[in-house]
Amino acid sequence: MLEERLRVPQIASGDLLRAAVRNGTDLGRQAKQFMDRGALVPDELVLGMIDERLGQPDAREGFILDGFPRTVPQAEALDRKLSARGIAIDRVVAVNVPDAEIIQRISGRRTCRGCGAMFHVVFDPPREANTCSKCGAELYQRDDDAEKTVRARLEVYAQSTAPLIAYYSARQLLKEIDGTGSPKSIEQRILDALGLN
Ligand code: AMP
Repeated sequence: MLEERLRVPQIASGDLLRAAVRNGTDLGRQAKQFMDRGALVPDELVLGMIDERLGQPDAREGFILDGFPRTVPQAEALDRKLSARGIAIDRVVAVNVPDAEIIQRISGRRTCRGCGAMFHVVFDPPREANTCSKCGAELYQRDDDAEKTVRARLEVYAQSTAPLIAYYSARQLLKEIDGTGSPKSIEQRILDALGLN
């Protein structure tokens, strides 16, 4: 939604890492062992990957970072990289959802192997079981979306990522929004937080 609205690419570190795993690159091989158990991939691997992505032509007019930064050292490195290019982050949106709802949403999530579209077994089921309603390819559950791994990811979030709330709040960039309710109402809150109405 934001990509269409702002006409800048969404750069999701998780998507980039999963593509590296799929393509069997060195980065993918190293990252997989961390991802499978819900741990964070080491900063130096993620930073190199993001730096390369931000250098691509489609990111010249701006970008939406998703899932990055996940640690304070990543945020500091991002600030350094961007200021070397004379740019800075405009806004940071934290989407708040209670843990129980996160577990329910993520453990029921199914992802399309073909186009990457996402469904949910209860909240947004595909027309035909295990089949993408958009492109017809097979749906699968990400290894790290199993409930046990989601719980591990929440612990990692509390320990390593939650400190970014204070980091961006101190820089007056942070807007926190309520991430519960319908997708439409959450979309509206994000647009409000970004001053896009
Ligand atoms: P996501 O698709 O954002 O949920 O990320 C899936 C997994 O990729 C995470 O659980 C981490 O193992 C890894 N990952 C994604 N982004 C980062 C990041 N910024 N730093 C470290 N690990 C990451």
